[in-house]
Amino acid sequence: MAKYRNYVMAKTIEEAYALNQKKSSVIVAGNMWLRMCGLKKQTAIDLSLLGLDKIEETEDAFVIGSMTTLRALETDSALDQAFGGVFARALAPIVGTQFRATATVGGSVYSRFGFSDVSALLLALDAEVILFKRGAVKLTRYQQEPWDRDIITHIRIAKGQRAAVESVRVSGTDIPVLVCAAARSEAGIRLVLGARPARAIVAADGVDGAQMETFEHIAGRTAFGDNLRASAAYRRRIAPVLMERAYTACREE
Ligand SMILES: Cc1cc2nc3c(=O)[nH]c(=O)nc-3n(C[C@H](O)[C@H](O)[C@H](O)COP(=O)(O)OP(=O)(O)OC[C@H]3O[C@@H](n4cnc5c(N)ncnc54)[C@H](O)[C@@H]3O)c2cc1C
Repeated sequence: MAKYRNYVMAKTIEEAYALNQKKSSVIVAGNMWLRMCGLKKQTAIDLSLLGLDKIEETEDAFVIGSMTTLRALETDSALDQAFGGVFARALAPIVGTQFRATATVGGSVYSRFGFSDVSALLLALDAEVILFKRGAVKLTRYQQEPWDRDIITHIRIAKGQRAAVESVRVSGTDIPVLVCAAARSEAGIRLVLGARPARAIVAADGVDGAQMETFEHIAGRTAFGDNLRASAAYRRRIAPVLMERAYTACREE
């Protein structure tokens, strides 16, 4: 269980950022991961009062507040329409409805979990991470960076894309053994592999007219690892199948 000496409901993002510059502080979002970490911190900074829980649609993008829950992403009708239901399909296997009604997109993106369905999908959709100090950073870059003390305010996803996600799990609500997300934009199809088990990566970009051999080749040059759920060899074996399914689904959408 996490223990905090002070629990601050930040009233402005500036206040939250200033407090978070100390190593003894931590940002609290859904608290679903943090509460299990056994963390002891001087100050917990809660972002709930900052209005960062909205999904806004502009002419060319969706701008999603970092405190938006996974459940809200899953059930938002505008997102559903714009991206052909992929958010609902990708997020539904994560633990359970009550869990997803609390865990946030900001907590997921910041954490860069090596098992994240959320990061895999957002990476395929070439999302941008909007940080309070640094401004907009492509998720492709943010995903590879070390954890820092900036605050994610929003995630931006350009419209005009179709995406699909495939995952394999040992049992229904467990973390995935492997995730493949694919998204089709004007630039072609992007394939992302997550839960390798390591941070999700873009395995191939601009793929067009691919055969099974292409997916086997991509899997062959991608790094996979062993963990309790599966071996690297097993992941490499199933990766081409997941890629082929996700690729076909987003091409046909
Ligand atoms: C048991 C369990 C099973 C899970 N299974 C899956 C799964 O199958 N697939 C999947 O994709 N995910 C899974 N997750 C991860 C989950 O979806 C969330 O990503 C996770 O709970 C973090 O979100 P949170 O809102 O709870 O963040 P918190 O626990 O509140 O915070 C997590 C971290 O992010 C930081 N943080 C939060 N918000 C911000 C922000 N706006 N700016 C900067 N830093 C921030 C916090 O300081 C902390 O370091 C699982 C988590 C748990 C606990």
